[in-house]
Amino acid sequence: MLVVMQKNASEEKINAVINAVEKRGYTARPIPGGERVSIGILHNKGSVDADHFLGFDGVKEVIPVTKPYKLVSREFKQENTCIGIGDAVFGNGSLPVIAGPCAVESENQILSIANSVKAAGAKLLRGGAFKPRTSPYSFQGLGKKGLELLAKARKETGLPIVTEAMDVETFDLVEEYADVIQIGARNMQNFSLLRRAGKSVKPVILKRGMSALLQEWLMAAEYIMEEGNNRVILCERGVRTFVKHSRNTLDLSVVSAVKKESHLPIIVDPSHAAGVREQVICLSYACAALGADGVMIEVHNHPEEAMSDGAQSLYPEQFKAVMEKMKAIHAIVGK
Ligand code: PEP
Ligand code: MN
Repeated sequence: MLVVMQKNASEEKINAVINAVEKRGYTARPIPGGERVSIGILHNKGSVDADHFLGFDGVKEVIPVTKPYKLVSREFKQENTCIGIGDAVFGNGSLPVIAGPCAVESENQILSIANSVKAAGAKLLRGGAFKPRTSPYSFQGLGKKGLELLAKARKETGLPIVTEAMDVETFDLVEEYADVIQIGARNMQNFSLLRRAGKSVKPVILKRGMSALLQEWLMAAEYIMEEGNNRVILCERGVRTFVKHSRNTLDLSVVSAVKKESHLPIIVDPSHAAGVREQVICLSYACAALGADGVMIEVHNHPEEAMSDGAQSLYPEQFKAVMEKMKAIHAIVGK
């Protein structure tokens, strides 16, 4: 249930509604909008008596929420959520690009890549320090050392850093260094990790699980928001299908489906969907045309020597060319 206040309803009137919601044993969550405040009612078991709240001064209307997810839904908040990080804004019609290697491997590697992606126009630097790998024998990331190297790259380039928090145990450490915390596809329904991310003051990129329905993905975002963190960016990264010509299948149709259901920004990662560089390039162009709120692309200075995801990593010069073309495409059809 959503209680929509009249334009310019005083703080006193808003508080009276909040108190009445809480008095009934529910949670009241005020959602500031462009024009008016709405108050979401959470944690109600069974239906809420709309007429009771309609009787309050300053209440414009009471809207039943039909979706199972609440805080993430367009029913709760009509305007797009815009999330500013450094020079980038996700959700305002622009197309900020996050770029960098799959994993941080050395100082030389991350500084070299950070400088080249910045020169090409990337707004944020990505790089994993804790890597969720399919095999326990594969490179697992440099851990704390990787975070320190990311911080060094941030200092040198000014780019905010995006890095993955893989579990609750290492969350505090990742949070200390990251500007944006990534929750990976394999962890999309790790509910204790989602709750921890919800208590963070840092924005979160929530990747779609490799076989997740839109509803399951939005419910995962709801876990984060329910804990109080409103800065959630969704990231489509391909889902598993029967095809063998690409690592995963990039679900381009999910972008407009998310925008219909949710006010949260949605970005696309063509790298983990494609798995091969040639496909990453053309899918990046599709992302620019789609109306996505951002793109995440893996770039490596020596992809043939990369310790993970070399085959899908663009060479810095390829990335530069892709950025130019994406910019041109976005200017024509992306908005
Ligand atoms: C990554 O971005 O490095 C990654 C592991 O992605 P995903 O969780 O989408 O597989
Ligand atoms: Mn990767």
